[in-house]
Amino acid sequence: MRAVVFEAWKTFPSLTEWEKPKPGPGEVLLKVAGAGACHSDVAVYKDYEAATAPPQLAPSYVLGHENSGWAEELGEGVEGIEIGAAFLVYGPVGCGHCAACSRGEDTYCENVASMSYLASGLGRDGGMAEYITVPARNLVPLGDADPIAAAPLSDAGLTPYHAIKNSLPNLAGGGKFALVVGLGGLGQIAVQILRALTGATIIATDSKPDAMRRAEASGAVTVPSGPDQAAQIRALTGGRGVDAAFDFVGVAPTIAMAASVMATKSRLTVVGIAGGAYEWSFFNTPYESTLTNTYWGTIADLYEVVAMYKAGQIKPDVELFAMDDALEAYRKLEAGELSGRAVVVPHMKK
Ligand code: NAD
Ligand code: ZN
Repeated sequence: MRAVVFEAWKTFPSLTEWEKPKPGPGEVLLKVAGAGACHSDVAVYKDYEAATAPPQLAPSYVLGHENSGWAEELGEGVEGIEIGAAFLVYGPVGCGHCAACSRGEDTYCENVASMSYLASGLGRDGGMAEYITVPARNLVPLGDADPIAAAPLSDAGLTPYHAIKNSLPNLAGGGKFALVVGLGGLGQIAVQILRALTGATIIATDSKPDAMRRAEASGAVTVPSGPDQAAQIRALTGGRGVDAAFDFVGVAPTIAMAASVMATKSRLTVVGIAGGAYEWSFFNTPYESTLTNTYWGTIADLYEVVAMYKAGQIKPDVELFAMDDALEAYRKLEAGELSGRAVVVPHMKK
């Protein structure tokens, strides 16, 4: 079968022949419906290096950690899954039996040090291929919802959902403000989730005007970057600052900007993995405010994301690519030329 393979550190992936997988015990073979291209993949193949990257991410393997598909074949011991049914894939694959995995929180698997991979497409073969095998417990049923358009939910939906859910206490009540920095694949869906789950005024920003127009269409107020950006954001909140902020970029200037507009008792979550540093001090921090990060989400969260998708509360903007054009998806993602989440569709009908 054909697949997009990460072959070596600091090397652009290649579109190549790869052996079609067979489902092992407890696994299901999926015919891939859609595989989203996430900016984290760019970090993995372009920025990370052997000496500092998690060893589980060492090449080579098929990329694609944001996947959906149709059940094609069941591995030994798997029951209750209908062949042909559509599923979203929960990407992280932990040991499956520690306390964290038992909560469906494979992201924080306590046995990660002894695992040889982190997730589908992150150390084990992912979904940028005609077929993928995943543990049956990682499948979330989509019912009659379109699995191709749903693919981004498994990361671009799940990650902001988890971050926002952890911030809901900060946004409960009237007159609250949320800030979203970086309106790409994750940030656009973050605006939709905030809109559906909270009554907060959503302030959003991106360096690209068209990304801000799309966030406005989902109900956000936008503030362009520039020297008086923080002052403009604070003015929108009546001077008080924002109650929750989500930084989907994570460079030093975006973290510093967000940190400078936080209210007392607020929560700033850095989701972008650009690795920007921030110097915390007692005196530059609003009282009882939290600065944190987060990684992906839980299996239970993904069920809730799917429920929101089915209810029409989340609608990922997608740009579809046939397998022949899969590498173009990554080129456009790197160049900032996408106007929706890139989804590779290996079985696209011509
Ligand atoms: P993306 O490329 O689709 O979107 C990034 C957006 O940020 C773009 O719209 C871009 O114009 C904007 N941007 C870039 N620099 C900016 C700046 N200085 N100021 C304002 N806007 C800026 O990326 P994505 O796939 O949505 O991923 C976003 C980030 O989240 C990446 O760092 C990715 O690696 C990370 N990520 C983290 C997790 C996690 O679990 N923590 C999961 C998935 C992705
Ligand atoms: Zn575990």
